[in-house]
Amino acid sequence: MVSLPELIAQMGRRLFERRLTDMSGGNISAREGNTLYITPKFSGSRHHWQLSPEDILSGPLDPTYWQQQPLFSREGKAHLAIYETFPEAQAVIHAHPFHVLPFCMMSRPIPPVLENTQKFGIIEVVPPAPAHSQELANNIVAGLRGKEERIRQQAAAVLIPYHGIIVAAKDLWAAIDAVERIDWNAWCILAGKWLD
Ligand SMILES: [Zn+2]
Repeated sequence: MVSLPELIAQMGRRLFERRLTDMSGGNISAREGNTLYITPKFSGSRHHWQLSPEDILSGPLDPTYWQQQPLFSREGKAHLAIYETFPEAQAVIHAHPFHVLPFCMMSRPIPPVLENTQKFGIIEVVPPAPAHSQELANNIVAGLRGKEERIRQQAAAVLIPYHGIIVAAKDLWAAIDAVERIDWNAWCILAGKWLD
């Protein structure tokens, strides 16, 4: 059986090779009981998402523990806040998907336009807040409230203005699947403009 650190490392390579995130960042995490597994700082900029299982950080689901970990990504705060709030969430992916970024730039929600994205509903944009702040983490949690059933079934997502997407899911497979479906859905909205 593939271990969670190995699976997270594999997911990072997939995200990057499929242009679902970039060199500037993103994070992948999963929980197992009270233990959090998460990609380290610099996964994009220095590792180019070619992580090995040993690179994946692990520790208790306790913000005070992670504050003292130098390799804990500043974007990890939102992951911790999601796990604290939503017991349904077993995996979280934050990414900068190629076709989703224009929607983040314009603060536009992404409506589902394909059959395979109906289950996520409209991907809303959360109010802006400084990058890496607790305020932003709180806005993300608030944006996911009311979507618990979607998380339990598969996944729910929100957009961060000028930045990217965050997906909370029932497991890592559901999380990466949601990131790709939403990115292709975003591409279809953009490409559809040419057909008007
Ligand atoms: Zn980011």
